[in-house]
Amino acid sequence: MSHGKLREDSSCQNCGNHVEHRYCSYCGQENTETRQPFHYLFTHFIEDFVHYDGSFWSTIRRLFFKPGMVTKEYLSGKRNSSVNPVKLYIISLLFYYLFYQFTLLMLFRLISRIVSLVQY
Ligand SMILES: [Zn+2]
Repeated sequence: MSHGKLREDSSCQNCGNHVEHRYCSYCGQENTETRQPFHYLFTHFIEDFVHYDGSFWSTIRRLFFKPGMVTKEYLSGKRNSSVNPVKLYIISLLFYYLFYQFTLLMLFRLISRIVSLVQY
């Protein structure tokens, strides 16, 4: 369930029927604001890491110790206990890019220091 702000308009944006609560009883679409400010995207991204019942760290831990289990559970339909694979892929790419850039920076600093020591 998302924590998006409920719309004041009680007509479903998908089918146009009257929505009494959070979800449309006809089509099932959630009646929340679809346009979110940028800070909501950023805080939502951070919440994935630090949220108490967040599944990010448990997915990472299980991927290290029982990598086949995560895939089997996901394929059998138990999808709420792990992070969405596409989201995990994007987060992994981000960490890889940051680690790669940091490693290159440290390597260049080390080489330039060695070169400066050799010159004198
Ligand atoms: Zn609807």
